[in-house]
Amino acid sequence: MWQIEGGIHALAKAIAALAERQGARVRTNAPVAEVLTAKGRTSGVRLASGEVIPADIVICNGDPGALATGRFGEGATGAVPRIPPGKRSLSALVWYAHAETSGFDLSHHNVFFSPDYAREFREIASGQPPSDPTVYICAIDRSAGEHAAPPQGRERIQIIVNAPANGDTHGYTPEERERCTNAMMASVRRCGLTLDNSMPHSLMTPQDWEHLFPATGGALYGRASHGWAASFQRQGPKTRLPGLYCTGGATHPAAGVPMAALSGQLAARVIAKDLASMRTSRPVVTAGGMSMPSATTGSTG
Ligand SMILES: Cc1cc2nc3c(=O)[nH]c(=O)nc-3n(C[C@H](O)[C@H](O)[C@H](O)COP(=O)(O)OP(=O)(O)OC[C@H]3O[C@@H](n4cnc5c(N)ncnc54)[C@H](O)[C@@H]3O)c2cc1C
Repeated sequence: MWQIEGGIHALAKAIAALAERQGARVRTNAPVAEVLTAKGRTSGVRLASGEVIPADIVICNGDPGALATGRFGEGATGAVPRIPPGKRSLSALVWYAHAETSGFDLSHHNVFFSPDYAREFREIASGQPPSDPTVYICAIDRSAGEHAAPPQGRERIQIIVNAPANGDTHGYTPEERERCTNAMMASVRRCGLTLDNSMPHSLMTPQDWEHLFPATGGALYGRASHGWAASFQRQGPKTRLPGLYCTGGATHPAAGVPMAALSGQLAARVIAKDLASMRTSRPVVTAGGMSMPSATTGSTG
């Protein structure tokens, strides 16, 4: 496991600073409403504010499902295949809590397994949150080292339980949220860990993830990776719309910060190659006396 000094957002800040040093201008709080097209390729984006930003290349870092379902306008819907709801990866219930813990000496990363893992996945497949879930707990204030003293009193913990990716069609009622919290607490209690009942927390459900990652139903890892062929069906950097590229945790190779970074590198390489093949170069006389054809007449594969 790798951790980042200063927390995960230190990485985003470092990448932003690197990009700015290379001449990029970073704009946040600027939701894109539409990918614009002209003459069969991308021509820029329109922000929700109405502002139009012309561009030869557009890179979509959201879930590709958002393109396919028209969240970025009609022009981009055919750019990538749709991901049917049945092919979505898992969503999650995530508690961000300030809790007093007892009975079990937590490490930084902890997994409490359900005694019936198969039932857990049957319940999720039928659209239900697991009744006796496997629980991951990240004890944020505890060092990854083995001999660190546990924090006194309340500590910050993040708790993750798998859930069905149906956040576009199902909202969790207060009763259901309470049932899920009780089921999670019972699971860890069986393993010896008690979380105090009054634990102040904020609970993210698949509906909240759907809001953050539109068109996913709350699926956190893009297309499901079950089966030998599934890896080959993940969206790669190239789309069917010239000038539009995809990157991010929902694309090839996989979810997770390191994998999302790899997908960014892949996209950068493909774009550099495509730009080189698009550039019209003047015919040049070579030493052998042959003139080079314009790269635009070659196949771009
Ligand atoms: C609870 C949880 C715990 C996780 N823990 C880990 C972990 O410990 N280690 C790890 O490696 N990975 C972890 N992951 C996975 C990791 O966070 C993701 O795989 C990674 O953030 C994906 O990066 P990304 O850049 O593709 O997408 P994101 O980080 O999701 O960034 C996409 C951005 O696009 C923005 N966006 C979407 N639509 C639009 C639009 N229309 N206009 C403008 N902007 C838009 C979104 O607001 C978002 O900021 C975790 C994920 C979750 C949910």
